[in-house]
Amino acid sequence: MNANIFARLFEPLDEPERLAIETADGARISYGDLVALTGRLANALGARGVQPGDRVAVQVEKSVPALALYLACARAGAVYLPLNTAYTLNELAYFVSDAGPRLIVCDPAASEGVRGLAAPLNAHVDTLDADGRGSLMEAAVAMPADFATVPRAGGDLAAILYTSGTTGRSKGAMLTHANLVSNALTLVECWRFDRNDVLIHALPIYHTHGLFVASNVTLFARAAMIFLAKFDPARVLGLMGRATALMGVPTHYVRLLREPGLSREAVRAMRVFISGSAPLLADTHREWAERTGHAILERYGMTETGMNTSNPYDGARVAGTVGPALPGVAVRVTDPDTGRVLARDTIGMIEVKGPNVFSGYWRMPEKTRAEFRADGFFITGDLGKIDAAGYVHILGRGKDLIISGGFNVYPKEVEGEIDAIPGVVESAVIGVPHPDFGEGVTAVVVRDKAARLDEAGVMAALEDRLARFKQPKRVIFVDDLPRNTMGKVQKNVLRDSYAALYADG
Ligand code: AMP
Repeated sequence: MNANIFARLFEPLDEPERLAIETADGARISYGDLVALTGRLANALGARGVQPGDRVAVQVEKSVPALALYLACARAGAVYLPLNTAYTLNELAYFVSDAGPRLIVCDPAASEGVRGLAAPLNAHVDTLDADGRGSLMEAAVAMPADFATVPRAGGDLAAILYTSGTTGRSKGAMLTHANLVSNALTLVECWRFDRNDVLIHALPIYHTHGLFVASNVTLFARAAMIFLAKFDPARVLGLMGRATALMGVPTHYVRLLREPGLSREAVRAMRVFISGSAPLLADTHREWAERTGHAILERYGMTETGMNTSNPYDGARVAGTVGPALPGVAVRVTDPDTGRVLARDTIGMIEVKGPNVFSGYWRMPEKTRAEFRADGFFITGDLGKIDAAGYVHILGRGKDLIISGGFNVYPKEVEGEIDAIPGVVESAVIGVPHPDFGEGVTAVVVRDKAARLDEAGVMAALEDRLARFKQPKRVIFVDDLPRNTMGKVQKNVLRDSYAALYADG
């Protein structure tokens, strides 16, 4: 059997007339149309000299042709390399030189600069704009729709996704056809996706969440997706009357909760709300349940691994947890220093192993070796614990752990206590260099506009709730926490902003 994800998805293709994608402006693309477009694009790739194993770097706005390009790369045996649209030309230079693509597809507005990067590599440059126009589609429409899908083994590369890496150089996570297929099939089953589903797809498609989780799951299930270029809460709410599923990042749910129209009636057609890519506040989970009658299904994954754990479809979806390991995935918690497996309910490093786990970092064999244990477990860099029921709790990235006066302080624990103070919207707790303590626990807090909360008020509220070494030395109020496009709070940005906070002792 051809292990190529394209073959697994579409060969054979029954019911080609079935709707695959509806766009924001009402265009309807059937599965047959989508597969034909991938054939034309795969032929166009061939005409550009793209061979199996070659990388195709893509920095374009979200569109149906952009999604088809991902599928066409798989079909042609090429390695798809999506890039965040926010990257500047300067940042792009690193990815391009590191990955050595044969073809770079970019927005027409960026093409001049990209040509400069491509020239030394002899890479071809094509354009594709937000409406799906540009040189790539001009070439594709002139090509036949038939294309013989390139045979691939499960271990062959399908994609390289650069990690958002907030420290050091971004690393290219190598994902195989088998990684993508196994994870998508597991999720289809766990989340009960089928042909009757209509997913509201408002995520970017350069990241694992929108590209692999949302798109692969929908396509494997032969469901339909409504493709929105951006997340607009009013628009998404309006679609809930005729959609069945939403996959979002926590900020999407927070923003939807601000819509006065969000009610049980408004979500009557919806079957499931899924959240991931960043921690969902327990408060958001509760508020959502009150307003809509649905418990948000939170799951946990990362670029390198796809999805690792998920709250159950049936059974308790526990706020503040990411659920048990997915079928076929092993999750354990270890002592970060020794690698010794820890007992239930003990905090340590989360490690995972399974068919979903990537095959290593592109051209970084040492980095790869350093992040895998000898028995094949990948060291995620996330701290957490597994409770008696087998549910995983995430306490944050290891690099966000604060060591103050020699004691470990888990930011999530402090954030949980601060968030529970009336008048607090949300918080981020960081470690900032401190002359006495090494790092000073520092809270950055967003408060309700109407709340009369000040630093002393926060300190007083924590007095009896947290051991002294965990209590913030300073509380700083801000209007918003800095977040990236996936809704993750950028703690590195906060650490930089307040680096000198305790400099005077
Ligand atoms: P990325 O590779 O951009 O998908 O980021 C992966 C990281 O996001 C993980 O290692 C976690 O730190 C974080 N993450 C993803 N899902 C969750 C979740 N449900 N709760 C908490 N953190 C999460």
